[in-house]
Amino acid sequence: MDLNFLFGAFMFIIGAMTGSFLNVCIVRLPLEKSVVFPGSHCVACGTPIHWYDNIPLVSWLVLGGRCRACKEKISFRYWFVELLTGLTFLLLYRHYGVQPVLWPYLVMVSGFIVAVFVDFGYRIIPDEVSIGGMIAGVVFSLIVPQLHATRSPFLGVGFALLGVLVGGGSIYLMGIIGDFVFKKETMGGGDVKLMGMIGAFMGWKLALLTFFLAPFFGAGFGIVEKIRTKDSTIAYGPFLIMGALASLFWGDKIINFLITGGIYHL
Ligand SMILES: [Zn+2]
Repeated sequence: MDLNFLFGAFMFIIGAMTGSFLNVCIVRLPLEKSVVFPGSHCVACGTPIHWYDNIPLVSWLVLGGRCRACKEKISFRYWFVELLTGLTFLLLYRHYGVQPVLWPYLVMVSGFIVAVFVDFGYRIIPDEVSIGGMIAGVVFSLIVPQLHATRSPFLGVGFALLGVLVGGGSIYLMGIIGDFVFKKETMGGGDVKLMGMIGAFMGWKLALLTFFLAPFFGAGFGIVEKIRTKDSTIAYGPFLIMGALASLFWGDKIINFLITGGIYHL
C-alpha cells in the first residue's frame, strides 16, 4: 500500500467524522440550538447515543437505520451526509494534495454541505455558516494567501475582502433588479452572505463566475421542480454552491475559454 492511498483513506475517514458533526449542525442550526450541548441523542426518544453507536457510516448500517433504544427510524440523510463529506474530503485531497489551500477548502466545503441541506429544508442559510464562513475566509486568506495566488498575507486579506464585496454585491444588485422587475422579494439576504463567503475564499473572479454559472444549475432543477410541485420559489443557495464548486475545479479553464477563442463560437 502506498502512502498516497493511506493518506486518501485517512482523509475519507476524517471527512466521514466531520460529516457526523455536520449532521448535528444541519439539524440544530436552523432551530437555533447549540451544536455542542447536549451530546448526540436520538431525535425521537432523546436517549443519548453511545460512542459505539455513533461511528460514522458504520453504526447506521449496523443498527439497520434505527435507534437502539426506541427502534424509531434514523433518517438516511445522516448516512448520506457522512458519505458525501468523506468523498468530498477525498476528492479535494486528490485534487490539491497537501498544498496549504487544501485546509481552507475543506472548511469551505463543510460549510457548503450544511448550507445545502438546511437551505433545501428550511429555505434559509444559517448565519453561522455564511457570516462565519466569510470571517473564516478572510482569516484563512491571511494565513494561506495562496488562496488568492499570492504570498503576501496583506494582499491575501485584500483580495478576500474584494471577493466579499464583489460576490455579495453581485447578488445584492441582482436582488434589487429582481425586486423591481417582479415586484416581490427574489433574492434572500442569506444568498448575499453566502456569496460573500464564496468571494472571501475564492476571490472576486471566481465569485463572479459563480454568479453567472449558478442560474444554469438553478434553471435545470427549477424546471423539474416546477413541473413536479407547481412551486416556482426554490432555494437558490444550493445552486450558488454548485456554481462555486464548478468555478473552483474548472474556473480557470472556463475563464480562459471565454477570453481566448471561446467567444467566437457564441
Ligand atoms: Zn430513539
